[in-house]
Amino acid sequence: MAKKDYYDVLGVSRGADSDEIKRAFRKLAAKYHPDKNPDDRKAAEAKFKEVAEAYEVLSDTEKRQRYDQFGEEGLRGTGRTNFEGASVEDIFASFSDLFGGTGGGDIFGDLFGGRTGGRTGTRQRPRRGISIEQSLALSFEEAAFGCKKHIQIARHEPCHTCGGNGAAPGTSPQTCPSCRGLGEVQSSRGFFTMRSACPRCRGKGTVIEKACPECNGAGQVRKPTTIDATIPPGVQDGQTLRLEGQGEAGDPIGPRGDLYLHLSVKPHPIFERRGSDLIMQRSISPSQAALGAKIDVPLLNKKTATLKIRPGTQSGQVYKLKGKGIKKLRGSGYGDLLIQVVIRVPKSLSTEQEQLYRQLAEVENENVNPHSSGFFDRIKGKFTD
Ligand SMILES: [Zn+2]
Ligand SMILES: [Zn+2]
Repeated sequence: MAKKDYYDVLGVSRGADSDEIKRAFRKLAAKYHPDKNPDDRKAAEAKFKEVAEAYEVLSDTEKRQRYDQFGEEGLRGTGRTNFEGASVEDIFASFSDLFGGTGGGDIFGDLFGGRTGGRTGTRQRPRRGISIEQSLALSFEEAAFGCKKHIQIARHEPCHTCGGNGAAPGTSPQTCPSCRGLGEVQSSRGFFTMRSACPRCRGKGTVIEKACPECNGAGQVRKPTTIDATIPPGVQDGQTLRLEGQGEAGDPIGPRGDLYLHLSVKPHPIFERRGSDLIMQRSISPSQAALGAKIDVPLLNKKTATLKIRPGTQSGQVYKLKGKGIKKLRGSGYGDLLIQVVIRVPKSLSTEQEQLYRQLAEVENENVNPHSSGFFDRIKGKFTD
């Protein structure tokens, strides 16, 4: 379907000058703003975009010339803004130099008066506080079972003397004269508008004539604070926990930043961790390995569990006690306890043990060292003589 003639859309003659076009657009943009047409927002939005598209072309000298000469075809490759997918707010923002200028403010007053105090500049957007990073050392058990920690940090809090606005008591911040409270200044390059934070008020939209003596006008003071953090069970060394809204204060109306806790977990003398599994080594005697046994193994919660060693267990073999590990951080349930069995050979034998080992060697038909007591006796004799 062919587009409507842009001059018709704006209701101006082909000879209209730029002021006429601007006035027509302002009038129509206000008329078709969806907020002004609550009963038929969709149709109003379509109309609004049509008006914006017409204005975009006719307000640009080069584009207007090409349009006059070649019609819509002539606009190909001129870098036109696509209004189809844009929101009405975005379109308004891109034209805000027009509306924010002399005589245009009343459009915003009309449209947004009841909702946002008549402004759509950055000033009104609450600014979030910055985040804080802190390291936190945990014992092995604290990481496994979870814990509560009191964390000392120094962070910016809203100043109580001025209520966070930075103005001395009895005074209040004034609308910035440079940006008329919008918080940003604009420079136009053709149709496009470059926007940057107002250098006078640094984007705040307000200026302070007499600074609050407590915070020197910053609206915030740095204070040591204690935060109660709940560490969930199952956290690991090297993990980072985010405590939402525990960072630096934002604007008086903005949310706080977050607090990031970088966790370091101390090692345990017995246990190691692999995810939610616990790993430990447990020594058994050669006879326990050969014959099988029931042995006690320690658990992280200071209790003990019974482990059944099967006959013929080899050194290094790993047994698993299901569910005796650490609570899983994500999901439900617990990890396992993995027990690596190491066969411990006695370092010295009693007379009876030695006799039995010799009998065993005979049965196994294994070559073993001869009885050594004679040798020891001979050495002993040499030294005591
Ligand atoms: Zn300013
Ligand atoms: Zn203050």
